[in-house]
Amino acid sequence: MSATIISGKDIAAQIREELKKEVAEMKEKGVVPGLVTILVGKNPASISYVTGKQKTAHEIGFNSIQDDQPDDLAEADLLKLVEKYNKDTKIHGILVQLPLPKHIDEKKVLNAIDPDKDVDGFHPVNVGRLMIGGNEAKFLPCTPAGIQELIVRAGFETAGAEVVVVGRSNIVGKPIANIMLQKGKGANATVTIVHTGTKNLEEHCKRADILIVAAGVPGLVKPEWIKPGACVIDVGVNRVGEKKSEKTGKMVAILRGDVDFDAAKEIAGAITPVPGGVGPMTITMLMKNTVKSAKIHAGMV
Ligand code: NAD
Repeated sequence: MSATIISGKDIAAQIREELKKEVAEMKEKGVVPGLVTILVGKNPASISYVTGKQKTAHEIGFNSIQDDQPDDLAEADLLKLVEKYNKDTKIHGILVQLPLPKHIDEKKVLNAIDPDKDVDGFHPVNVGRLMIGGNEAKFLPCTPAGIQELIVRAGFETAGAEVVVVGRSNIVGKPIANIMLQKGKGANATVTIVHTGTKNLEEHCKRADILIVAAGVPGLVKPEWIKPGACVIDVGVNRVGEKKSEKTGKMVAILRGDVDFDAAKEIAGAITPVPGGVGPMTITMLMKNTVKSAKIHAGMV
């Protein structure tokens, strides 16, 4: 039997509708979530990411500010700008779009963001909070938080499940493993992380009730590595070529995941497509974190 396709596009749209309602209720109590995105320079990919975030924030009803800065902005001036937003009571989420120009120390800038406004969840304080778990965890990093939502909303039981995570990056592998091993709803799993140092990748994957793959290697996970009925979350986004878009006639990238989707869907119980799976969840979870931040700042939670 063919697997259920977990549509990140549909689930993200559903969460955005939920957030719209939540924000409308907050506005009645005089609280408007505020998000600022700071863009230094004119990197086309960064402009497109920031535009997407701003558009979504507007749609949900945020007070959203796009702060464009020139390419030659001094590091000290960027730090001052971050400090200004740290103090701004109308702003609950600060996002500095990466990459920054070479003369600026990215780590220094990201660490200058108030951890209580770090809606990306990458500040060392928030990484530590996630490790501690429970009520300590404030802002989960967006892609891993989106993965958890997909698993839960697809109806998979995580408690006691064997979760295998392929990849140990700080933005996907490590945080999703951490989220899944916490005590509580949508987690409480037995977690294994496999990586380039792992000897028997295949054997680990075969044990997985929930297999999360974030390696960045197209087709790394073979269909025969998948346990029948497993939930497969393919985080990988790999450009494997180009094709002419039917809509615009322009050349666009052909994207593939880390799992052989066509063969895997005949074995898995559920699987995310690439594109349209994990991808659409990331911005949505950023919005969710900003709403949470606004509520925390207003003493509503
Ligand atoms: P990364 O390169 O930082 O980390 C990849 C990890 O996979 C490493 O820890 C490495 O040990 C492991 N790995 C690589 N090759 C392996 C192999 N042959 N066997 C076992 N382990 C192997 O990448 P990342 O930032 O974690 O991203 C992973 C993939 O997810 C990329 O394709 C990226 O584009 C995608 N991604 C998607 C989203 C999204 O959809 N929103 C967000 C982040 C990343």
